[in-house]
Amino acid sequence: MQPFGFTQAKTVDGAVAQSGRFVAGGTTLIDLMKLDVETPRQVVDINLLPLDRVEAAPDGGLKIGALVRNSDLANHPDVKARYTVLSEALLSGASPQLRNMATTGGNLLQRTRCYYFRDTNYACNKRQPGSGCPAIDGFNRVHAVLGGSENCVATHPSDMAVAMMALETLVHMQGTKGERQIALDDFYLAPGSTPDKENVLEPGELITYVTLPALAAGTKSYYLKLRDRAQYEFALASAAVVVQVDGGRVKRVRIAMGGVGTKPWRSKEAEAVLEGKAANEQNFRAAAEAALRDAKPLRYNGFKIELAKRAVVRALMVATQNA
Ligand code: SF4
Repeated sequence: MQPFGFTQAKTVDGAVAQSGRFVAGGTTLIDLMKLDVETPRQVVDINLLPLDRVEAAPDGGLKIGALVRNSDLANHPDVKARYTVLSEALLSGASPQLRNMATTGGNLLQRTRCYYFRDTNYACNKRQPGSGCPAIDGFNRVHAVLGGSENCVATHPSDMAVAMMALETLVHMQGTKGERQIALDDFYLAPGSTPDKENVLEPGELITYVTLPALAAGTKSYYLKLRDRAQYEFALASAAVVVQVDGGRVKRVRIAMGGVGTKPWRSKEAEAVLEGKAANEQNFRAAAEAALRDAKPLRYNGFKIELAKRAVVRALMVATQNA
């Protein structure tokens, strides 16, 4: 591991005034520093910042501090009762020990699990721009079928972010120029020709909290994660659905997928196909087909396309069974 400087910030203003990599739970950054994938000169500990609360938002939604631990968020009474999909997604990720450390802000910023990215013996455009992407013609079973470019086909690994995408979450940030907010769907960037730039955060900018909007009465949600083993494994395909059914018809639906896209993948195409239609398996399948219409398989990951479709259908079936 490369030597680095270490400071602790006590205020958000103090944190963003320092130029360094922020560390909270450390469940991504420290791993990658040990592998020499991340080599910051300066690390700023933000664990003392007052960003560890879950609070009611004025519009009836929920305000979640960036330092709220994944376990605390998953088990928060309001999240379990009203944002079931988020609790389920959080509890499907990592292990209890990791969830006790990992934070809301850090989870959004998880780096990819692409094997080549994590092994400095290989080239990687995300790690070293312009060096190449061995995954495209290599072993690409876990890679993306949606959103990839000729420069990178890595998936985003977060479950929490997939649920938050379906919940239309807003991300709030603060930097030296002030505060701003952005929809989570616009927070992540497609790899394009700059796969090293994964989101809209400017250097030194800090995620301070996220907000979930209030959900209409009767809204149901569900998160389904499909993976190689039942625990402690990343998604090959997952689906987060938030759906409101009225009189047997889908009044409003939000659909996002994990494990298949270069970012947590919301499908507005699938939502458009389903809204106004009868809540039945045939229409759920039509929505799933729309969600994967633009999928581009690589040599080893073509199975993900059907897997993701089935995840979407199944998640909608479960979410609407008592609607
Ligand atoms: Fe690197 Fe992306 Fe290629 Fe993986 S898929 S090797 S992260 S450029």
